[in-house]
Amino acid sequence: MSLESIQRELSEKDCDLLFGALDLKKAYENEDLLLRQRAYQKLMPHLGEPDVFQQVYAEYKGWTRVHLPRAATEALKDARFVLWFSPRFGFTPALYCPNVRTGIFVRGLLTLSRCPHCGTPFTPIKGNQIHCTESCGHAHRTAKWRFLNQLKPQRRAKKRSKRGAA
Ligand SMILES: [Zn+2]
Repeated sequence: MSLESIQRELSEKDCDLLFGALDLKKAYENEDLLLRQRAYQKLMPHLGEPDVFQQVYAEYKGWTRVHLPRAATEALKDARFVLWFSPRFGFTPALYCPNVRTGIFVRGLLTLSRCPHCGTPFTPIKGNQIHCTESCGHAHRTAKWRFLNQLKPQRRAKKRSKRGAA
């Protein structure tokens, strides 16, 4: 499934839901604060909570365990667990999707990964493949390093103000 075909079939809002969910999952698995911030920008309208919480959710990794299942479950709600016959596998359990939207969410959320640098969806060849290409991996690691360096003065100031308050 290519980025173009997903964007053609899904509304802009649904693209944000799918890509936000994939990014949030990857950010959780790879301790990636930059990606988590981007994911929450896309997901906030789907969580039904005020935008003012966006920064709070992005700061604390644990919120992912609440928000990702909620967002994904809503997107997958029309899929049905069924039994059908496949000439190759015989009688086999399957997920029936009543429309293209549900099919894209099932396939996307269960098998696709998304490159944190360029946003291209891909099927990982190895289980631990994070980026679509090595050059995207390098570019994203650089962006993350810059992002975290830029945050350092703010975080130090926060710690100082906490110590001052104690
Ligand atoms: Zn990429």
